[in-house]
Amino acid sequence: MSFGKDCRITADALEAFETQSRGRTGKVIHQTPMAELARQLDIDRLIAEGGLTGDRLARFLADYLANSTRLRDPRYMGHQVAVPHGSSALGALVDGFTNNAMAIYEMGPAAAAVEHKVVNWMLAKAGWQTADPPGSAGAGSQQGGGVLTHGGSLANLTALVAARGRVAPRAWMDGTPRNLVIVAARGCHYSIPRAAGILGLGETAVRLAPTDDLGRLDAARLGAFVEGLRAEGLTVMAVVANACATALGLYDPIRKVAEVCRELGVWLHVDGAHGASALVSERHRGLLDGLELADSLVWDAHKMLRTSVLSAAVLVRDGRDLDQAFHEDASYLFHDKEQLGFDFVHRTIECTKAALGLKVFMALAAEGEAALADYWDRQAELAREAARWIRSETGFELAAEPQANIVCFRVEGDDGRQLAIRKRLVEDGRYYISTTEHAGRRWLRLALMNPETSLGDVQALAAEIRRLAAAANDG
Ligand SMILES: *Cc1c(COP(=O)(O)O)cnc(C)c1O
Repeated sequence: MSFGKDCRITADALEAFETQSRGRTGKVIHQTPMAELARQLDIDRLIAEGGLTGDRLARFLADYLANSTRLRDPRYMGHQVAVPHGSSALGALVDGFTNNAMAIYEMGPAAAAVEHKVVNWMLAKAGWQTADPPGSAGAGSQQGGGVLTHGGSLANLTALVAARGRVAPRAWMDGTPRNLVIVAARGCHYSIPRAAGILGLGETAVRLAPTDDLGRLDAARLGAFVEGLRAEGLTVMAVVANACATALGLYDPIRKVAEVCRELGVWLHVDGAHGASALVSERHRGLLDGLELADSLVWDAHKMLRTSVLSAAVLVRDGRDLDQAFHEDASYLFHDKEQLGFDFVHRTIECTKAALGLKVFMALAAEGEAALADYWDRQAELAREAARWIRSETGFELAAEPQANIVCFRVEGDDGRQLAIRKRLVEDGRYYISTTEHAGRRWLRLALMNPETSLGDVQALAAEIRRLAAAANDG
């Protein structure tokens, strides 16, 4: 096997995949039953006998890519996963090849330096103090902190562990007190109740805060809600705000919520897994106005920063909050260990740690951060244009005016009709969309992730949806 030669074979296969995808020719999604696909890919034989190199590799990749969902097709409007910049994917390759497990500095100095800088870049975007390199004079005091981890779900859990440490410093040693609750909107991501389960609070410890009719936290009623919980003898561990919420892509009013939290002395966690990337855009960063008052933020790079999966940041305004998260007493971090760099291992659930910063960095550094700001602006503008057009058409109902790059609408008919249309679309495979529930009803949902999706693509999809709806009426 020649690694260089196999790299070129792989690059050729990926280039062909990209050309076909961008040309809107084949199918965005193409599903074969798993057992049949496993046979087609000859998986068992290859595991037993090997030989996946050269021409055999080329054949395998052709089959593999033929059965892969094409995010690079502009008609992909499915889930909130980045269409990664090619440079970010190269970062994933370099990380995979070097395998520098950089949770401790000496296992990956370059990877750690990149992650440190990426985290600082994000802290600055959040309006928080950046962190000096460890060992320098100011390090530690009142500076922000962060770590990159495998996805927003793990990042939310990490942030909530840090929040628990603030209200219950003995929890790490003695277990979670029984009276802790988390306050969140019904539309929070399921990783929030899941984190409550993992933390031993139980999902019922997520208390649903008052919201407006689009599911956004109602800051005016939040204070009384928290006081009410306190009157029951409960301790509010954190308030969770969405920026933006997964279903409709709408932002909670962060500043007002943060002011209430400050007043009450409650940790504010902002789940910006999808929407924190708006911070890169001068035009759209106002969506997170007031973020500088929050305590923690989760920001997925693999959603709107053109980064390969997975790379999610847990950021805290005060870095010491993250250092104490996994230990009651973080003093062991600050002893005079003689070392040049910084160990991330104290800040993350993971032990062996991938160089997640490299994938983000290479997406940023390929064209500079302004290109990612333009990308956000373009996708958000496309969502607004699509919504305007959908509203002007008869037979469609729009769920809400989009704030990010997510558009939800429905055709006339019941929930079953929406689900049937989505099912037919996916079976046909030329378009890929999802659905969501909002206000007790099912909606068709577009996540406009692909930088080449046009209003024309949305209009052609809508025409197809109309055709399917009419066919269902006739049948
Ligand atoms: C996607 C998302 C998550 C989960 O992030 P993963 O990286 O998929 O684990 C959490 N919260 C919100 C608001 C999200 O959009």
